[in-house]
Amino acid sequence: MTDSSEKQCSIDWDINEAENRLILHLDEEFLGSAIYPVVIDPTVSGPSNTYDTYASRANPDTNYYLNNYLRTGKDEPYGIRRLFLKFNLPSIENKYPIKSAKIQIKLKSNSGSIGQFNYKRIITSWSSSAVTWWNSPDCESTEYHSSSVSNGILTIGGSDPTGIIPKMVRRWRVGLYPNYGIKLYYSDESSTSVWQTFYSSDYSDLTCHPKLIIEIYTGYSSYKKKPISDFYGGGTSGGNYIVLDGSELPVIYQSKLAIAVSRWNTYCSSSHFSIGTSDNKVIINNNIPGWGKYTPYSNHFLIEVSKTQIDQEKDWDDIIISVLEHEMGHALGIADNDDSSRVNAYRCTQMGYGRDRDTFLYPSNSDIYGVNDVWN
Ligand SMILES: [Zn+2]
Repeated sequence: MTDSSEKQCSIDWDINEAENRLILHLDEEFLGSAIYPVVIDPTVSGPSNTYDTYASRANPDTNYYLNNYLRTGKDEPYGIRRLFLKFNLPSIENKYPIKSAKIQIKLKSNSGSIGQFNYKRIITSWSSSAVTWWNSPDCESTEYHSSSVSNGILTIGGSDPTGIIPKMVRRWRVGLYPNYGIKLYYSDESSTSVWQTFYSSDYSDLTCHPKLIIEIYTGYSSYKKKPISDFYGGGTSGGNYIVLDGSELPVIYQSKLAIAVSRWNTYCSSSHFSIGTSDNKVIINNNIPGWGKYTPYSNHFLIEVSKTQIDQEKDWDDIIISVLEHEMGHALGIADNDDSSRVNAYRCTQMGYGRDRDTFLYPSNSDIYGVNDVWN
């Protein structure tokens, strides 16, 4: 793994063959002094962890899984060729949100100019030794588009944490989707002189194999992971909207609640708060310990903030925003960063107990990655 100052630390790992898992052991000391974000590259490669093959329309009963290459596009005498790819995921503890994920395959040769590729998520089980054109797995109807080959590499997905591939990987990880990988094909399958050959996982040089690269965010010490169906307040008013009812708050608190709602919604693509009539009350309670409190119930939640505590401070009006954003983070499914030995998470996130509440007025990237990971 490498931190943002290019400092590196090796990772110990084990393979649990029974479960087909790669287990990474991360050095806590390195993580404690690292400059975030830290990139961990748990690349899985080799025939046992990567499954890839292609199918040929002109030879619809033939299986090609032992070929050391994969092909898309169209040619004579094979006709259209499409490929199928899946990866066993490394075991990454749930407390580490997935920041980004991408699949890379390396170009071996091609004919004609190369433009866009298309891909779909596979929804039925397959094995590389059995796939033929007639015996191809089924896919979701939604077609996604990937950019072209750059520097000899086709990259599917990228750095966007809300992108399609990270979304699939997160769902594969928690079992919301069975992990059957993707089908990949060229956007123009009309000309027999336009085709692309990629290295497969059977090629002798490991560095040429298809790769799934996952970047995880380790700056976050902990967060809650819930199934999406289990969210408080989400179901009552439709969609993913969480409606907050601050009608009993003093006017100044109501205006700060509107700011906190807009900051979560603006900076975090998975946050959908609104203000209205709801069982999700936001109230003043001066008897709670500390600044604020979040309490979940079976189908709603309660946010309480201590006006007495906040009023003691010079910048009390800003502190209201920080306290509300923190409690709203719980409503989105992320937990406290209350471990002071994890300095970054403790001091530099909205969920951190050690943050400066009068200046920490936006959700941090770490908070946002955590929430995106819960919801996507
Ligand atoms: Zn909290």
